[in-house]
Amino acid sequence: MPSVEQLLAAIDGYKEEMIGALGELLRIPAIGPENGGDGEFERARYLKELAERCGFEEVEMFDALDERVHLRLRPNIVARRRGSSEQTAWIVTHMDTVPPGDLDAWTYPPFSPRVVDGKLYGLGSEDNGQAIIASLYAAKALNELSLSGEKTMGLAIVADEERGSEKGIKFLIREGVFRSGDTIYVPDYGVPDGSVVEVAEKSIMWLKVTVEGKQTHASTPEKGINAMKVGSKFMTFLLDHLTEKYGKVDNIFIPPISTFEPTKRHQTVGNINTVPGEDVFYIDIRLLPEYEPEEVMKTIKKIAKLFEDRTGANIELSTEQMTKAGPPSGVETDGMTALTKAIKTVCGIDPVARGIGGGTCANLFRLAGFEAYAWQTVEENAHSVNEFSKVENLISDAKVFAILMGSLCYGNDIDGL
Ligand SMILES: [Zn+2]
Repeated sequence: MPSVEQLLAAIDGYKEEMIGALGELLRIPAIGPENGGDGEFERARYLKELAERCGFEEVEMFDALDERVHLRLRPNIVARRRGSSEQTAWIVTHMDTVPPGDLDAWTYPPFSPRVVDGKLYGLGSEDNGQAIIASLYAAKALNELSLSGEKTMGLAIVADEERGSEKGIKFLIREGVFRSGDTIYVPDYGVPDGSVVEVAEKSIMWLKVTVEGKQTHASTPEKGINAMKVGSKFMTFLLDHLTEKYGKVDNIFIPPISTFEPTKRHQTVGNINTVPGEDVFYIDIRLLPEYEPEEVMKTIKKIAKLFEDRTGANIELSTEQMTKAGPPSGVETDGMTALTKAIKTVCGIDPVARGIGGGTCANLFRLAGFEAYAWQTVEENAHSVNEFSKVENLISDAKVFAILMGSLCYGNDIDGL
C-alpha cells in the first residue's frame, strides 16, 4: 500500500519539472478580449497536453463561443480520473490573466518568466499559474499510484475568470459539468501562511449617485441649488443610516460587518466662485450575505427622496455592479475537514474558516448550490507589476492538494490518510 510519505516525496521529485511547466505556460499569453487580448487558445493547448502527461486519460475540452477571439472560442479544460461514483472532488483554476499594464514598470519581463531567489517571476505566476501547476502535479502523484477510488477526481482549468466567467465557470455550470453534491476547491484566494480558508463572501454593490442642483454665482447661493452641499449631506446621512440599520456582526468575516465606503467622486466646477450644479460620487457597499441588496437599495431610494423633497435637488441612483453573495459554505462538511487535515499535515497549522469582502469565483459555485472553498498560499501579488510565485508555495500547495484529493478519493488505499 502506498503511503502519504511516498506521495509527498513524489511531489518533491517533480520540483524542477513543475518550475519548468509553470515557466512554459507563462510564456503563452492568455488575456481575454475585454482586456485587449486574443483569448486563451494557445495556453489551453499547452495545458491540455500537460494534463495528459500528468496521467489523466480523460481530458475534455468545453469550448465557449466568442466571436471576439482567435478561432472564436474560449477553451475550458476538464480532466477527470473516474471513480466508481459520479461524485467528484474538483479543483478549479483559471488560465486567463489580466494585461501586464505598463511594460516599462516590470523589472522582469511579464512573458519571459525566470526564477530569482526562489521566486518565479511572470504575469499570471501567482494568479493563477501556481495553482494550475500545483493541482496538475498533485493529480500526477495520485494518478501514478493507479488506485481506483469511489469518488471521481476532477480538475477544471477555465477561461474568462478575470472578466466575469461567462465563458468559463458559468459556462461549465450551464453545461452541467458539476453535479449536485460535488465539492469544489478554488485556489484563487489565500494568505502568505496558508492559514485562511475562504468559505463565504459579502454581496457587492457599487452605487453611483448623481445630484442635480442649479449652478449659480457663489456670492448669491440663494439663486441656485448647491449640488455638492446636498450631495455631501446626503452622503454622510446615508452612510450613518446604512451602517446602523444593517449593523449585524458576523465574526466569520474580516471585517465582521457590512461596509459602506464612499470612493470615487467627480470633479465639480473648475473655479472657486461658482456654486456647482452637479455632484457625482460612488459608494462601494459590501453586505453580509443575510442582507438582500434589493432591500438595501429600497432604503437608499427612500432617503434620496427625502433629500430631494427637502432641497429641491434631483438625486439619481444607479448600480455600477450588483453581485449577490451565495450562502456560506459549511465548515463541518467532509470537504472542509479534508482540506483542514491536508493543510495541517503539510503546513503544520490549523487553518481558520473566514468570509471576505467579496470577489472570488467561489461565489459563483455557492450561488449554484455547491459547497466551495477558496484556499492557497500566496504572497498576495496578483495583478501587480513583477508578479511572482514563490517556488516553496508551488510545491507545498501541490502537497496539500495531493493529500486533499488523496483522502477524498483514495482515503482507504493510501497509508496514513
Ligand atoms: Zn485569479
